[in-house]
Amino acid sequence: MIRYGVDVGSTTAKIVSLTPELRYRIRETREWETLLEGIPSHEIASTGYFRHKIPHRVAATEITTAIYGVREYISDPEVIVDIGGQDTKVIDVQRNNFIVNDKCSAGTGAFLEFIAHHFGLRVTDLSEIHEKATRTIKINHTCSVFALSEVVSHLVDGCRVEDLIASIHQAFAERIAQMIPDDAGEIVLIGGTAQNRGIIRALEEILGERIYTPPNPQIINALGALRYGEEREEW
Ligand code: ADP
Repeated sequence: MIRYGVDVGSTTAKIVSLTPELRYRIRETREWETLLEGIPSHEIASTGYFRHKIPHRVAATEITTAIYGVREYISDPEVIVDIGGQDTKVIDVQRNNFIVNDKCSAGTGAFLEFIAHHFGLRVTDLSEIHEKATRTIKINHTCSVFALSEVVSHLVDGCRVEDLIASIHQAFAERIAQMIPDDAGEIVLIGGTAQNRGIIRALEEILGERIYTPPNPQIINALGALRYGEEREEW
């Protein structure tokens, strides 16, 4: 019987169970084995970049599990945006289409980690810092390395860190927005970066008030793997 959904992504590993209620754990990917101690492989439905490398009974792509996971909260999602550690996916559920950016780190969680690290901050602090911003500055470079030099040059010119973080969120959100169909209705945001309220706010400003973020957005794929695995067992 499938009892666990496990998502081992490029950056983090997540495990979810629903009995008796929703429970989950998240670790860095290099520690994925600690999540599975004592769990038989025939109880695991896996997803994520490393889904075939871990013990499992059923495996599904992150596209499938994103849809299954989001359906726990929204019965008929239109567009799902998954901002992970090393890639970003836009899934157009209605039109059965998807786009992935896995070539350029600038539109992924890795970019925000890179920036946070440079400022001696944690990614988990970025939302709060963004809230203190009073203005944003246009960041012209689309490559992470050049964007960082541009940010440093604004810093030297006297810009506040808060304003620069909000500006980075704005540039990041613009990059993500380019992947989203113009006529998309409600957009569901998932993945670890969906916990950054600065990114949500910047996306809302660009796309309008159409962003829905489920509770615990980082574990949606693991939850979806569990639901998908349960359904497969019934076939
Ligand atoms: P993957 O499945 O590709 O391994 P995740 O969906 O787990 O990736 O997302 C990992 C990313 O989420 C990291 O790059 C990190 O920057 C970001 N992240 C995790 N927690 C938070 C948080 N509380 N606030 C902002 N960003 C976060």
